[in-house]
Amino acid sequence: MQKKGGFRAIVLRVLLTLLLMAAAAGVTYLSFGTSRTIRRLRRENTALLTQYNILSHRLDDALDVMSDIQQRDDNLYRVLLMADPVSEHVRSASYASTNRYEALESLDDAALVVNVTQKMDLLTRQLYIQSESFNQVVGFFKNHEDMLAHLPAIQPISNNDLKHTASGYGSRIDPVYGTVRFHYGMDFTCDIGTPVFATADGRIASTGWEQGYGMTVEIDHGYGYRTRYCHLSAYRSRPGQTVKRGDLIALSGSTGKSTGPHVHYEVVQRGQKVNPVNFYFMDLDAEHYEQIVNLADNHGRMLD
Ligand SMILES: [Zn+2]
Repeated sequence: MQKKGGFRAIVLRVLLTLLLMAAAAGVTYLSFGTSRTIRRLRRENTALLTQYNILSHRLDDALDVMSDIQQRDDNLYRVLLMADPVSEHVRSASYASTNRYEALESLDDAALVVNVTQKMDLLTRQLYIQSESFNQVVGFFKNHEDMLAHLPAIQPISNNDLKHTASGYGSRIDPVYGTVRFHYGMDFTCDIGTPVFATADGRIASTGWEQGYGMTVEIDHGYGYRTRYCHLSAYRSRPGQTVKRGDLIALSGSTGKSTGPHVHYEVVQRGQKVNPVNFYFMDLDAEHYEQIVNLADNHGRMLD
């Protein structure tokens, strides 16, 4: 009995040991597998987060481009349609009032995912509004051909590479007195004798000497627009003459209060001197337009 009992005990102990070993092996295998899965998921998660961050930055870039287009569009509205541009409220209206982002809030990286989704929504909406806005501008162009011919739309001298662009419209340092003063036009540096062109159809209103501006030509374009070309060296037009956009009207110089050869160009809209940079839309593509805005903005010292 005792022998039998001892044998049974040994068998039991061996079985138990085998069972424990099997269990241990199982647990080891399982935990090894699980940790491998966790490691893989972690790697994937990191990669996804990186992708989301890249996506977020790319959306920022796209929104920046969109904002440039909007600015240009707004200028078109002010100039062409003489209407208020699409309001900031309409442009930036997102889906913020709805709960469309709620489902995403439960995610671990909710802030990032919601942020990217919101940017994408904003861009989609802005693209739609922009395309509607362009449709209106195209409609306007079709119905106002005569007015468009009389709207200043090119630069007063040939400036394809923009290297003649000098000081723009805005507060600038006076070249003679060194004080800050408002510059009501745009300066184009060029050699004396450079051809100066009418920037739109119209009638020469006057040619003559003006205090500070020197030899000046002024064109009346109708529709409330006038343009002025100053510091000239010679006239190639006379008062009362009808001109077309691109016609030679004068030669550049440095007459009047001027610190160097240049053309000072002004656009007058209903009696107000406005920023000429909004009136080059037949001359410049989007890229050059942005360049000329930057050049004119960053040119601190006017030539007068
Ligand atoms: Zn000037």
